[in-house]
Amino acid sequence: MRVYNFSAGPAMLPEEVLKRAADEMLEYGTSGQSVMEMSHRSKEYQAIIDSVEAGLREVMSIPDNYKVLFLQGGASSQFAMIPLNLMNKNHKADFVITGQWANKAYQEASRYGKCNVIASSKDKTFSYIPELDKSKFDPEADYFHICYNNTIYGTRFNELPETGDVPLVADMSSCILSEPVDVSKFGLIYAGAQKNMGPAGLTVVIIREDLIGNAMEMTPTMFNYKIHADNGSMYNTPPTYGIYILGLVLGWIKEMGGLTEMEKRNKRKAEPLYSFLDSSKLFKATVQGKDRSLMNVPFVTGNEELDAKFVSEAKKAGLINIKGHRTVGGMRASIYNAMPYEGVEKLVEFMRKFEAENV
Ligand SMILES: *Cc1c(COP(=O)(O)O)cnc(C)c1O
Repeated sequence: MRVYNFSAGPAMLPEEVLKRAADEMLEYGTSGQSVMEMSHRSKEYQAIIDSVEAGLREVMSIPDNYKVLFLQGGASSQFAMIPLNLMNKNHKADFVITGQWANKAYQEASRYGKCNVIASSKDKTFSYIPELDKSKFDPEADYFHICYNNTIYGTRFNELPETGDVPLVADMSSCILSEPVDVSKFGLIYAGAQKNMGPAGLTVVIIREDLIGNAMEMTPTMFNYKIHADNGSMYNTPPTYGIYILGLVLGWIKEMGGLTEMEKRNKRKAEPLYSFLDSSKLFKATVQGKDRSLMNVPFVTGNEELDAKFVSEAKKAGLINIKGHRTVGGMRASIYNAMPYEGVEKLVEFMRKFEAENV
């Protein structure tokens, strides 16, 4: 029996995608082999990677002056790759610290240049998105970094900082493909695939062309965007199977009606959970108002023993990986694109029952 998996990542994939992958496991088309076994230099595989890139460009409406790169190393490698490639004029960058991932991006970049903290929400365990004072933005920064959706704390940006000519860089690991975004507002978007795109091992970078080609001298070859852009993500062996699964996920999104429909579904799906949390006598959401994420929903009972009991009983009911991050405690329901509406319904039903038995 398949469970409802509320893991923050790796996370659920659409059942249709897994079934299609299973059907094609032993033989992709008439190739006589699994995609996993294909040479990345083969005609068959070139057709796959080309169609996945075209699919991503279509689904996200990526303008022509952006490159799409299929890399490895996770979002965490981007924390270094971005400054190595972008901090090349004034050796400065601006950061908004909205959680652990944003902070890691900041700390890693600080090894390569001067990093300026514009605002932080650390004072309240990152439970909100701080107001940004534009007068603090450095017009000479080489880039301005945000974490669009804060996976651990369950907050998200609703309004993008207006950075003028300074390229806006966004970590979208936990929200990419969950709603339409205007790619032209960003210099660079990056995401590890394992939340909304496919299996772990693939990292997607969408980068404006003028930001490529000025990496610092010391940049390792594999960390230079230009190497990957010039070689169509085939400088070395790309994560071939992960790219193929992303293609299936994109097909699933296109079939439902694209990101506009995806966003509708995600809103409709998060609503019953938040509205239950707001009316519950036992459970409480840790984030209020407009900063609430549609993808990650942290909540607590306020009693550690009850939290642990809830996590363990939920697991027995087929609702797994709902324990919160160790820095927040309590619970967190990650409800990415592939979590069906019924999964959230089941969770709310279970919470209601747990509340009745424990209040
Ligand atoms: C999961 C996550 C990361 C870390 O990704 P890796 O692929 O494990 O390096 C970074 N940023 C955000 C926002 C995440 O959700």
